Amino acid sequence: MSAETGQFDVIVVGAGLSGLYALYRLRERGFTARVLEAGSGVGGTWYWNRYPGARCDVESVQYSYSFSKELRQEWTWSERYGGQPEILRYINFVADRFDLRRDIQFNTRVVSAVFNDETNLWSVETDQGDLFSATYCIMATGCLSTPYEPDYPGLGDYQGDLYHTGRWPHEEVDFSGMRVGVIGTGATAIQLIPVVAKQAQHLTVFQRTANYSIPGHNQPADSEADREFEANFDARYDKARHSFAGMSGYSSPRVSALEDEPAERNRYFEERWASGGGTFAMLTTYRDLLVNPEANDLAAEFVREKIRSIVKDPAVAELLTPRNQPIGAKRLPVDTFYFETYNRDNVSLVDIRSAPIERVTAKGLRTSERAYEFDALILATGFDAMTGALLAMNVRRESGPTLKEAWAEGPKSYLGIMVAGFPNMFTITGPGSPSVKMNMIYAIEQHVEWAVDCIDHLRSQGLDRIAPTETAQEDWVEHAREVAETTLMPEADSWYMGANIPGKPRVFMPYFGGFERYWQLCNEIVADGYRGFETSGPHDLAANLTEPRKDPVPALPS
Ligand code: NAP
Repeated sequence: MSAETGQFDVIVVGAGLSGLYALYRLRERGFTARVLEAGSGVGGTWYWNRYPGARCDVESVQYSYSFSKELRQEWTWSERYGGQPEILRYINFVADRFDLRRDIQFNTRVVSAVFNDETNLWSVETDQGDLFSATYCIMATGCLSTPYEPDYPGLGDYQGDLYHTGRWPHEEVDFSGMRVGVIGTGATAIQLIPVVAKQAQHLTVFQRTANYSIPGHNQPADSEADREFEANFDARYDKARHSFAGMSGYSSPRVSALEDEPAERNRYFEERWASGGGTFAMLTTYRDLLVNPEANDLAAEFVREKIRSIVKDPAVAELLTPRNQPIGAKRLPVDTFYFETYNRDNVSLVDIRSAPIERVTAKGLRTSERAYEFDALILATGFDAMTGALLAMNVRRESGPTLKEAWAEGPKSYLGIMVAGFPNMFTITGPGSPSVKMNMIYAIEQHVEWAVDCIDHLRSQGLDRIAPTETAQEDWVEHAREVAETTLMPEADSWYMGANIPGKPRVFMPYFGGFERYWQLCNEIVADGYRGFETSGPHDLAANLTEPRKDPVPALPS
């Protein structure tokens, strides 16, 4: 590929759900934009995470873009919880439907983004040798997009097939007749293990920490219910906006778990367990589950009891039973026969907390107790979440510190969408925003709309630079920290806390004050003249900012 140069109003990094919507929205407002994407196709997390069993645990009708009524009506989901192939087809459908590909450059990884104060431009360099400049940068780089591979001695010596779930091959992988090892028991492994177990001759799961999980009871989509959802879309969407997690259809928790009688509490937990309503159904049973350890333990014990009742071998059940961590403080996975899989003869579980992995060998791996041999080894070891992709690029201001230096003690931002000292850079669902603690797709839409409205506002005012003040940022970081500390979130060694990455600062990264509160605050800040932000301009090249195009978005077919 030949290197390109070019100047745009906006460079968007990433062509996942965030980047695609950003491009759509920017075009709609008449801005020129180029999207740079490392993958060979659109889809972001759904492009990379093709492992067997990958599925969304938010109901498909709610895990769909809301912004276009036509789009909603043209697409029909086949399952209650969409599988990765169908979600990727949906995202490709969106890209084609709105003719987005012509402004996306694939197979192009951004290596640096540098802001120049004099020119008021970001210079964006890629691994293909391209050099683009733009007044604004929208980082649509995803929260879980930088896979984490443990630094095991000998990993490079392994001679079998080695996979990371977050970089799964495009061609089908068949484990039939193979001895397979899986490291990790997070949400990803919990989806993958039951599927691989059905194929493999033998599957060995290496578990460091037992995890809670609840059944998804996935089923074919209920077309009647989906039609009703669409017919009442505005009301459902309004409910989602006024909810904590950007979802509708879940009753708000009313009372403390300690207030209900044990029999009633158990009945209620059973109802939610059987509903297949996923994480949100279970964690919205009582209002104090995520703040009161005693209340939390009642829900945790309910799930522990389920594990004991499902897993036949008491020693395996004991090993699979999570202890010393509140339920919901790590992301609560949703599964399809996860615990049942340990009743299969061809599945074994190895506790690597008591006997840690010492090294990977040519044929498998060795723990402190013994050696194992595999034809294939799967790392389901997660991601350098929320900050990984942003810090993998050399983001800096020519005259100032790098983003990595600015975030040396953990990410700092204002509202999770902009960073003091880094003007004109928007971080879609960045650390400090509700993002991963809510329905991601609505979080993405809200952030994209906020960012593009902001750029549009600057243009209308003859301005071309915006950045949060240090004070506003400090206040926000402090507020987000205080909110998290009123909950049980900091108690788990989760990726929310950066605890899964050796040496990463221990900070609860998402904002956990709820979507309704956050969304309203974002709106108030705008209504208050972008409170907490400093704006200026026009700078030298401001005149180059594109005049709105007349018909930037293709007309929708009637
Ligand atoms: P994860 O939750 O971080 O889990 C990683 C697993 O690997 C954990 O069991 C972890 O053990 C283990 N591990 C990590 N480093 C290790 C090491 N050095 N040695 C041994 N074990 C190690 O990652 P994930 O399962 O990929 O999930 C990440 C997130 O993706 C989820 O929380 C969720 O938000 C998202 N996701 C969503 C869906 C969905 O929508 N249904 C599905 C999959 C994933 P420890 O627990 O001891 O650290």
